[in-house]
Amino acid sequence: MTVRVRFAPSPTGMFHVGGARSALQNWIFAKQQGGVFVLRIEDTDAARNKPEWTEGILSALEWIGIARDSYEGPYFQSSYAGEHRAAAQRLYESGRAYYCDCTREDVQARTGPQQRGYDGFCRDRGLGPGEGRALRFRTPDEGETVVVDLVRGEPTFENKLIEDFVIARGDGSPVFLLANVVDDMSMGITHVIRAEEHLPNTPKQQLLWDALGVKPPIWAHVPVVVNEKRQKLSKRRDKVALEAYRDEGYLADAMRNYLMLLGWAPSGDREIVPWSVIEQEFRLDEVNPSPAFFDEKKLRAFNGDYIRALPVEDFIAACQPWLTGTGTIAPPPWQPEEFDPAAFAAVAPLAQTRIAVLSEIVPNVDFLFLADPLIDEAAWAKAMKEGAADLLDAAIVAFEALESWDAESLKATLEAVGAERGLKLGKAQAPVRVAVTGRTVGLPLFESLEVLGRDRTLTRLRAARVRLV
Ligand code: GLU
Repeated sequence: MTVRVRFAPSPTGMFHVGGARSALQNWIFAKQQGGVFVLRIEDTDAARNKPEWTEGILSALEWIGIARDSYEGPYFQSSYAGEHRAAAQRLYESGRAYYCDCTREDVQARTGPQQRGYDGFCRDRGLGPGEGRALRFRTPDEGETVVVDLVRGEPTFENKLIEDFVIARGDGSPVFLLANVVDDMSMGITHVIRAEEHLPNTPKQQLLWDALGVKPPIWAHVPVVVNEKRQKLSKRRDKVALEAYRDEGYLADAMRNYLMLLGWAPSGDREIVPWSVIEQEFRLDEVNPSPAFFDEKKLRAFNGDYIRALPVEDFIAACQPWLTGTGTIAPPPWQPEEFDPAAFAAVAPLAQTRIAVLSEIVPNVDFLFLADPLIDEAAWAKAMKEGAADLLDAAIVAFEALESWDAESLKATLEAVGAERGLKLGKAQAPVRVAVTGRTVGLPLFESLEVLGRDRTLTRLRAARVRLV
């Protein structure tokens, strides 16, 4: 039997990092089993779906390594409405489903507000189809439904506790529970790997598989992803969109490595491992069922490690979208013609060891490409205290006299200027740095001045001095 798995996102918003995690797990599982990964877009909620969200899913999947030509699909659930209705009809004709005209108020009036779920009032009324009549599945009164789950063992549900749930609404349209099962069935899905949030649906869905006469799949409900307060990651509260991480400058390799650590770890005492090792070592049955903490701080640190591990040419190439403002990435503060690739290449190795996400490249190098530095006023106030004017005057004179404009000479010169005023190098650097880069922190100062060049450095120091008058 060929293993067939599917990833079945609903295109109702940005692509959630938890979804990306499930997609990767499906992907690796299929690959390990010599199976097929199917992409199905569950677009039946017409009010909430938008075509651009679908395109967002495809490109986000591509970004984390699930290429468009490497899977079956995408299929669109909305194309199979006929099959969903036919299945609902079969369940009705075989007596496994019945029509019901109860309103929620009717049910509550009978059961009281406390009781949840449907009371079975229409079970034996023999109603036929009709406008406003929902179709309900007749759940067995006895026995239990045992779900075989690679992550959770065998969760067992008592059938008598499962209500007669709706499978088609009053307007005849089948609900998610049924459409999802019918599509999995017709697409020959053997393993359903999805988020824990769907576990409560699973006994109902397995009953539908049984009632439709097909052997149910093997399930794997992977853990819910939570924030530092152990709340489920939500798009209203947390940064959950994979696209947001991409645009901030997380590397795809770092991101997918990190996503795979949500509930699982490779062997040995290491977390940063080549993708080929993850593909080989990952085991669904080793996934920890407890909620998985999405630790953004750790992801950042991870990304910094990945950035530092890049060959410098690759780092330079990876920075380009932020240096030019490509696609959804904001343009940098300089004009394209102000950018100087050679100057960038000269400071790139210094930046590579200092940034954790690629977007941070821009504030680190903008001083090189802007005619005037962007002065951070708080930094200015902090650095330009008493003595700053005198220090800048002396630095200007000493820098003008320098024979060789190189980092080492610049450092020795400023060190001497500082020492004459009883200042350590760090203190002497601060006004110079703010005058030239506009900031209190950044790349190593003297290398920066070397690349910026004598004329521009002196012009900025003089301009700062004028401002201090
Ligand atoms: N469309 C469902 C969702 O996005 C997927 C359900 C499933 O994987 O079975 O949550």
